[in-house]
Amino acid sequence: MIEECKYWHYPTKLPKTSVIIVFHNEGFSVLMRTVHTVDDFSDKDNLKTNLDNYIKRWRGKVRLIRNEQREGLIRTRSRGAKEATGEVIVFLDAHCEVNVNWLPPLLAPIYRDYRTMTVPVIDGVDHKTFEYRPVYAQGTNFRGIFEWGMLYKENEVPDREANRHKHKSEPYKSPTHAGGLFAINRNYFLEIGAYDPGLLVWGGENFELSFKIWQCGGSIEWVPCSRVGHVYRAFMPYSFGNLAKNRKGSLITINYKRVIETWFDDEHKEYFYTREPNARFLDMGDISDQVALKEKLKCKDFGWFMENVAYDVYDKFPKLPKNVKWGMVKNKASSVCLDTMGKAAPAYIGKHTYEDETNHLIHRLHGYCLTLQPHSRTLALAPCDPNNTYQQWTITHKAPSW
Ligand code: UDP
Ligand code: MN
Repeated sequence: MIEECKYWHYPTKLPKTSVIIVFHNEGFSVLMRTVHTVDDFSDKDNLKTNLDNYIKRWRGKVRLIRNEQREGLIRTRSRGAKEATGEVIVFLDAHCEVNVNWLPPLLAPIYRDYRTMTVPVIDGVDHKTFEYRPVYAQGTNFRGIFEWGMLYKENEVPDREANRHKHKSEPYKSPTHAGGLFAINRNYFLEIGAYDPGLLVWGGENFELSFKIWQCGGSIEWVPCSRVGHVYRAFMPYSFGNLAKNRKGSLITINYKRVIETWFDDEHKEYFYTREPNARFLDMGDISDQVALKEKLKCKDFGWFMENVAYDVYDKFPKLPKNVKWGMVKNKASSVCLDTMGKAAPAYIGKHTYEDETNHLIHRLHGYCLTLQPHSRTLALAPCDPNNTYQQWTITHKAPSW
């Protein structure tokens, strides 16, 4: 905790708050860090009657709401917001540990302006030992940004924002946030349509909410004096269940596509499609309600957001040149294709350039050609030989066949 945090004063009449903790198949003990819970159709036994009995000790202060079917965390949080009674709602993952005086610093900016969403600084809780420890070095402030494939990133607060503040312990503006932990005025959250109900299960909702808030007149502040620990998991203990079935392609990429098609402008959409060319072919469902909401709320365009809020994204992730080639890269000799073998982006092949006449993929520095080694089915760089079809690759711009 920053020493300065001990000396700030907060308003005494802060708004009544509901803490909403959505969960699916979480550990019983970690979940018991809760105040108010919404259950997303868990099928773990001890999350059933045990939990009902356990929370009786709080005499109605803790409410357990169960979904009739698995809804995913996004819709479940929206439901939690509707059911909550507090003027402000705080969302937490079901494996958090709040730190000393975490709530007043989160509520104060909302008390001043109900369109401010606040985010605590998230510390780490070790998933093996449950040791609580800061993730960020003392005295450094980070904020949430994104890259063009819509991976969430963090960046040290740029001078343009840091210079607006006298103290490092003051809340500062952030383009986005990690997703799980934040506070917001409940009516405001519902006014801006909560989360897009077309987003499925997990992923992208942090961007949807952030772009919507910023572009439609609100703001996001990270609050260094509010610290909450989060257990960063070793693995995801659940699958995306039935909601992911019958969905061709990656569900998370579909969510991203909905978000960028609603909130980005044409220029910035292209950067996303450069990173995720397959996303052009994914069915994102109907976004007309989202677009209508954007018009109704008279939201600003994405260019405004980039220039005035997320300006540091360009420093870290410059605008992308168009892909020279993209699509299926097939070897002439054996008809096998290049494959990332399931590795997540960025999984690139380094410095190759492609030659249309020879179909060679050539390493720019060494001048060697990418060669398929037919027995091991691995790739190698070998001196270029115009007669070797194992060195010839065709690239087709084609929708994937899933
Ligand atoms: N969750 C949920 N339904 C789901 C998936 C997740 O209610 O279908 C809950 C989960 O139990 C957790 C929160 O949503 O409380 C955020 O998920 P998670 O912690 O897995 O996300 P991460 O922190 O790994 O990004
Ligand atoms: Mn989590």
